[in-house]
Amino acid sequence: MKLLVVLVAVALLLWLLRSGQERRQARPPAKGAPRPPRTAQPEDMVRCDACGLHLPRSDALATPHGIFCCAEHQRAGRAPRP
Ligand SMILES: [Zn+2]
Repeated sequence: MKLLVVLVAVALLLWLLRSGQERRQARPPAKGAPRPPRTAQPEDMVRCDACGLHLPRSDALATPHGIFCCAEHQRAGRAPRP
C-alpha cells in the first residue's frame, strides 16, 4: 500500500512539472522583453559586370555603364578592355 502511495505521489509530481513547463512555453513574451530579430527581406541579386560576382542590389554600384561590386571594378569596367 505504501508503494502505491509513493507511485501516485511521483506521478502527480511529474504531471505538475510537465504542465508547468507547457504553461511557461505557451506564455507570450513579457513586455519589454527583446523581440526576436526580424529576418531580412529577400532582395534582388545583381551581377558585377567586371568580375561576375553576384551581390545584393543595395550593395551594388549601379552606373550608366553597368552594375559593379566596387569602385575599382567600376573604373575597370568603364575602361576599354584589351
Ligand atoms: Zn566586381
